Amino acid sequence: MVEKTQRPLWIKDPLAILAEGAQRGVVVIDGRIVELVPTGRRPTTPDVTTFDAGAHVVLPGLINTHHHFYQTLTRAVPAALDRELFPWLQALYPIWARLTPEALDLAVTLALAELLLSGATTTTDHHYVFPKGLEEAVDIQVGAARRLGVRVLLTRGSMNLSQRDGGLPPDSVVQDEDTILADCERVVKRYHQRGEGATVQIALAPCSPFSVTTSLMRATAELAERLNVRLHTHLAETEDENRFCQALYKCRPLDYLEDCGWLNARTWLAHGIHFTADEMTRLARAGTSVAHCPCSNQTLASGTCPVCAMEDAGICVGLGVDGSASNDASNLMQEVRAAFLLQRSRYGVGKVSHFDALRWATAGSAACVGRSDIGEIAVGKMADLALFKLDELRFSGSGEPLAALVLCGAHRADRVMVGGRWLVEDGHIPGLDLADLMRRHSAAAKRLQGAA
Ligand SMILES: [Zn+2]
Repeated sequence: MVEKTQRPLWIKDPLAILAEGAQRGVVVIDGRIVELVPTGRRPTTPDVTTFDAGAHVVLPGLINTHHHFYQTLTRAVPAALDRELFPWLQALYPIWARLTPEALDLAVTLALAELLLSGATTTTDHHYVFPKGLEEAVDIQVGAARRLGVRVLLTRGSMNLSQRDGGLPPDSVVQDEDTILADCERVVKRYHQRGEGATVQIALAPCSPFSVTTSLMRATAELAERLNVRLHTHLAETEDENRFCQALYKCRPLDYLEDCGWLNARTWLAHGIHFTADEMTRLARAGTSVAHCPCSNQTLASGTCPVCAMEDAGICVGLGVDGSASNDASNLMQEVRAAFLLQRSRYGVGKVSHFDALRWATAGSAACVGRSDIGEIAVGKMADLALFKLDELRFSGSGEPLAALVLCGAHRADRVMVGGRWLVEDGHIPGLDLADLMRRHSAAAKRLQGAA
């Protein structure tokens, strides 16, 4: 889990760094940050090799708290354009029902590469489409994540409330409760790593109130407690969802969540747009956190997540790109800018700065995924770092480097380190043929969408 390095590495004299007292950089040994080097000092760690970071702005590795990797195969699908969530889903479900293991492997690899090149070092994924033949979706995802070396918290998603039973998805993409729960337990036991430095973790994630039965929601919460893993689902994304809950369960989505045994610190929720002030207080008291997905929310016109009101109430908020059918990019650094712009326009200049947006994507996201060993550049934390250069046209003439990343629109990291190991060097992922990956991924997307 932790990369053993030959000698301590001093990431020296960065142009700027998002950390207190590390103006001259950080020292990394065996996958961890062991020293912050302040102005006027040299490392006290002996025998260091150096990486000259004089052209780099250094951030904690970004953490993506919500995604659906398979959706990279259905970006900008004509039938789903200009639709809100429910009709958007209904346009895409029949396409997703044709997903194959080979296509999923390409989609996951491509999404991970896209995230990594944007500065992400940890990502979640929420895979909830299990058509026949794709029973081992999580295994495929673990394989791709291990090949690339990105930290992942893969959620074993599920849907068991299909059109036949009054739900939204077609019958062909759902599984029955027993099959779902057995596979949840299997993948947790097989892949979930515990403790600091974990590279592969598993959480349980029924898709949403409108695609899962109450029985499965309750049983999943009980299983997560027994196996001691996290819980994830979509909640409070749209007014349609409020109406659905009101009609079917005679309550609001959060009441339903609580009734199902989900309102606790194990849970992080995607979106959280339509909570009332009272509901925010309840979420904060329970320790439930929220993944804010600004691009997806704007594309589907779902509403604006009240991030500052949630933080004021005491809720931890992280950032997510959401699936690539509603973003449609998997670029977490661009998501930081989107969050900054959206929340500043809602709350004003005195309330939201570029530091807040960077904090949501790092420390805030770390809280969502339940980890204290990542999300910050500090002694003892894992050496997960994203280094950006300001050498593109868009940065020319910029003053404050950390502000420039957000305001000028950084989108591609020059170097990315996970657990002390460089996974991106000079803007490339060593050993990954991106052109070949894109060619095969595009062909798979065409087949899936029925164009070939
Ligand atoms: Zn989502």
